[in-house]
Amino acid sequence: MKKPNLQNSSRRDFLRQLTIGTAAVAGGIGLAARAQTNPTIQTALDKLSGKKKLGVALLGLGKYASGELAPALQMTKNCELVGAVSGHPEKLAAWKQQYNLPEKNLYTYGNLEKIKDNPDIDFVYIVTPPALHPVYTIRCANAGKHVLTEKPMATTVDDCQAMIDACKAANVKLSVGYRLHFDPYFKEIGRLAKEVGPFMKMTGDRGFVFGNRAWRVDKLIAGGGPGPDLGIYLIQGACAAAGEVAPVAVTAKQRPKERPDFFYDVEETLDFTLEFPNGATFTGVCSYNHVSDTFRAENASGKNFIDFQQHAFSYGPGTVVTDKGPLQFPRQPQVDGKNCYQQAWHMDDFADCILNNRESVASGEMGLRDIKIITAIYEAMRTGQKVSV
Ligand code: NAD
Repeated sequence: MKKPNLQNSSRRDFLRQLTIGTAAVAGGIGLAARAQTNPTIQTALDKLSGKKKLGVALLGLGKYASGELAPALQMTKNCELVGAVSGHPEKLAAWKQQYNLPEKNLYTYGNLEKIKDNPDIDFVYIVTPPALHPVYTIRCANAGKHVLTEKPMATTVDDCQAMIDACKAANVKLSVGYRLHFDPYFKEIGRLAKEVGPFMKMTGDRGFVFGNRAWRVDKLIAGGGPGPDLGIYLIQGACAAAGEVAPVAVTAKQRPKERPDFFYDVEETLDFTLEFPNGATFTGVCSYNHVSDTFRAENASGKNFIDFQQHAFSYGPGTVVTDKGPLQFPRQPQVDGKNCYQQAWHMDDFADCILNNRESVASGEMGLRDIKIITAIYEAMRTGQKVSV
């Protein structure tokens, strides 16, 4: 079968970026290792003293950056959009105009290292396809900038570890784009797990019908199909319901593909289970072939539960029911008709982490945990066996 793929230019760009990145990483890790004794590399708090709001640069000006993060940055209290990084000069020009960004705060992937000399920018939010998260995280960390990187954190366990190591060596904070941890509805999973738990039986379904060809169905760039893109939300829900405990074993099976030419490289629909150390289980499905966004967790008797009947993992509170009735946290103000307050809360919290020298709940370690689970899920899918995490 002819292998449809990303446009050649995109693939060339991708490989070129990785080459630039690898060189920078090789040079930069040495630099970072010297950071602690180099007086020109200040601690985060020194650099930030006296600033009212922290400056944010978005790197990768695609759909999520434009549609959710830039609007969210119009409502943040602790940080503001001050810069942008892109391989497309026309996007930089448009963002400069739309968000009134100074020319000196605009960077390309080629001159990204110069960001180290720019005191306006405190953290960089990386919003590229997943395989590029490590390269840009490490380059930004080596330039002394804190990093918030989108989910999934990376496409391999080793890359996640390298990101964590680079941020530690450069003494910068790292967080992964798990916006749900800042949403009161999602937080209720963990709170109820303590109050009426442990939750022993979890189920979930996350899917959308995939329309256009894009990096999301290219395994090299995305790391897989709906597994890392959507299954990661189910993993997040299940681990939260289990009390932020990781599963010890997984099983997985992909369903027959209805569009095999389209999903030549990745699964189309994936059923998987997670087994937790206390015997709790999660059973769920993620798909690029049906629309769903649900999650339910119940305790051993089934008497106490939390049930996200819609929008479990997307924006907006949806309908969340517990055995005591529907949850009704106040709705948040919208920006341009969007519910991007989860993103705003996350970025404000990350700014607070930087200012108060604490770690984000959506940590690099959590991102690493999830990629370990995804890796085990793919191994289980490949072998048909139960796989230990
Ligand atoms: P997108 O394709 O719209 O944007 C990706 C951006 O990266 C584009 O600006 C593109 O030009 C740039 N890019 C740089 N190098 C590239 C390359 N080699 N190939 C392709 N693009 C390249 O994608 P998106 O939907 O904005 O997703 C970006 C990231 O955000 C992904 O990691 C995705 O998982 C994540 N995301 C998270 C959420 C969430 O709710 N947390 C929602 C959507 C997307």
